[in-house]
Amino acid sequence: LMHLTRKLIEIRTMLISIDQSDALKLPSIVVIGSQSSGKSSVLEAIVGHEFLPKGNNMVTRRPIELTLIHTPPTNGQTLQEYGEFPALGLGKITDFSTIQRTLTDLNLAVPASECVSNEPIDLRIYSPYVPDLTLIDLPGYIQIASMDQPESLKEKIAGLCERYIREPNIILAVCAADVDLANSPALRASRKVDPLGLRTIGVITKMDLVPPEQGASILSGNRYPLHLGYVGVVCKPSGKKGNKDMLGTLARRAEHDFFGSHRDIFGSQSNLMTGTDTLRRRLMEVLESSMASSLHGITNAVQLELEETQYQFKVQYNDRRISAESYVAETMDLLKARFKEYTSEFRKPQVRAKLKAMLEERVMDVLEQLYWTDKRAPELSALGADPRATPDSIEPYWRYKLDAASSLLTKSGVGRDSTLLVADGLRALIDSIAQGEPFNHHPRAAERLIEFSHTLLRERIGVTSDQVENCIKPYKFEVEVEPREWEQGRAQAVELFEHELKMCEDKLKDIRTRVGGSRRLKNLMGYVHELEEKEKERKQRRLAGEEEVVPEIPDDYRYPPAQILDARHAMLYNDRVGILKLRLAALKSKRCKAGPENDVLCPEAFLNVVADKLAYTSAMFINIELLDHFFYQFPREIDSRLLYDLDRKEIVEFARENPIIRKHLDLQERKDKLEEVMKQLNSLATLRPDVQPTPRRQ
Ligand code: GDP
Repeated sequence: LMHLTRKLIEIRTMLISIDQSDALKLPSIVVIGSQSSGKSSVLEAIVGHEFLPKGNNMVTRRPIELTLIHTPPTNGQTLQEYGEFPALGLGKITDFSTIQRTLTDLNLAVPASECVSNEPIDLRIYSPYVPDLTLIDLPGYIQIASMDQPESLKEKIAGLCERYIREPNIILAVCAADVDLANSPALRASRKVDPLGLRTIGVITKMDLVPPEQGASILSGNRYPLHLGYVGVVCKPSGKKGNKDMLGTLARRAEHDFFGSHRDIFGSQSNLMTGTDTLRRRLMEVLESSMASSLHGITNAVQLELEETQYQFKVQYNDRRISAESYVAETMDLLKARFKEYTSEFRKPQVRAKLKAMLEERVMDVLEQLYWTDKRAPELSALGADPRATPDSIEPYWRYKLDAASSLLTKSGVGRDSTLLVADGLRALIDSIAQGEPFNHHPRAAERLIEFSHTLLRERIGVTSDQVENCIKPYKFEVEVEPREWEQGRAQAVELFEHELKMCEDKLKDIRTRVGGSRRLKNLMGYVHELEEKEKERKQRRLAGEEEVVPEIPDDYRYPPAQILDARHAMLYNDRVGILKLRLAALKSKRCKAGPENDVLCPEAFLNVVADKLAYTSAMFINIELLDHFFYQFPREIDSRLLYDLDRKEIVEFARENPIIRKHLDLQERKDKLEEVMKQLNSLATLRPDVQPTPRRQ
């Protein structure tokens, strides 16, 4: 029949891992007793080892859930006794002083300000010498509660204590023989929740300290009857510290000798329960019968819980099972697929278009710098319109200008800038993948993803930009333009200019509305012009060393400063519109359309052709040196940096970072555990027909 307790202890452990609520709890034995009542000695006598924290001020701050598992010795193997803290993952601990130290550390980890923690310490002890038992040690609670503590703390402790001594648990009340039972804090606490003494078992320690007759009278339980009775013990340690046998044979023999020497009083006729061995046996009986009587109720409760969980699993997940492994694999596949999808943005024509846009902007900068701000710019337009002007008759000034403009463009660091532009695009793509579903749930993986892809890019940027720069080198010296290219460049320049013109006109319109109409803007501009003239005049006089005669006009005299600024901008846009219109006319002229021999007169068309050629060449080499390489390497890096170096624990951690997956896994696990518990409970029922669970389904 001991088989039943053992099985139920296993089931109890599983149930605790499923649910901390009382509904699904099998009984355990809760040990209570005030300080020095001999509680530690009793517990250690049951286990056969010293393992509890000692010390004057060593008040236990966390409950200890002590599960004893009887391991029968198998043939030929040396007997092994060991403990385990499943929550700590320390493995088998064969040295009981290590267990003692670990318990002390766990205790001390609770800050003194909190005094007690609700979270129990799970300790399992495997030994051929222990019975199958579960004990909960709540040392200190009783006496802390009686000490001079703030009310809130007392309540906290009382609450904790109460939670444990609730049904269906059995209370083991430890009282010293030399203290009047009327004063025993343990009995007092138990009486509060179990007034009839139906589930309390008394342990009277220090039987050797009172006359045998007095001890016997306590054990008879006449004064404070307990249904489960009293057991008298002597657990006097031999006293020598470090003596391994302190709680073993010697102690047992001392106890045996003591009760043996008073056979007349404690003998078998007396019907009194004495000795540690009797205590163990009694505890096993009591726990077994209590568990057996809980079996029916717990089976129904588990059945109910299981049905609810199965229903939820069906409704929420349509019975779809997942695993952490499959989630991780799917996530990585998804990452690769998403990346692949985005890579279409990085095909050659797309890259070329992006580079061209960057270079067009640069063309405009060069034009502004060399032509639009040149006072002689209108001359160029006039030349273009003059049918008598031949390439030879045009001043070398304009030829130099064009060469300078072309140089500015080709030597502006195109290799580096175009490579960085594409690399930045890739980086932004990776960053956006890392920030989106599902990587938003996996910050560490996202960080690694970003890190290795940035590294990959960084490694290629230098090589690529050098290669690109090398390949565009010829254009720094000479650019040959085919008529077809010329026409294309010219058309694009027209488009660009029209766009730019529209932008300037829009800006002007904005300013006009802001300052209050074109009349007002005209006045403003006139005023600003006046200001500028005065300023110029003053500067000249100063340069000539003359006295200041022109008084300064205060800027904010007639118009608010913001409007003056608007007017200044408007003047700039006006000038820009003027020159853009001039150049547009030139670009659309017969002269420009005629062909590349007119490059000096149409620098815009020429520079556009150069930009085209630069973009084409850059895109080609960026594709070879950067993109091909990255696209090949990236999926492989995902496998090697994100996937393969995860161990089982990390895979589970990763999957559980996603709240949706975590919920799914939790429910699935709960269902599995409940099913397993149910299976075991059913197998117990066939073992004991008298505790057959009634099926709840109608
Ligand atoms: P706890 O504070 O309730 O855990 O009590 P301990 O187990 O630490 O025991 C308190 C003191 O009583 C220790 O000095 C023990 O040696 C002593 N003690 C415990 N059991 C017995 C016993 O059966 N007989 C005698 N004489 N002393 C005992």
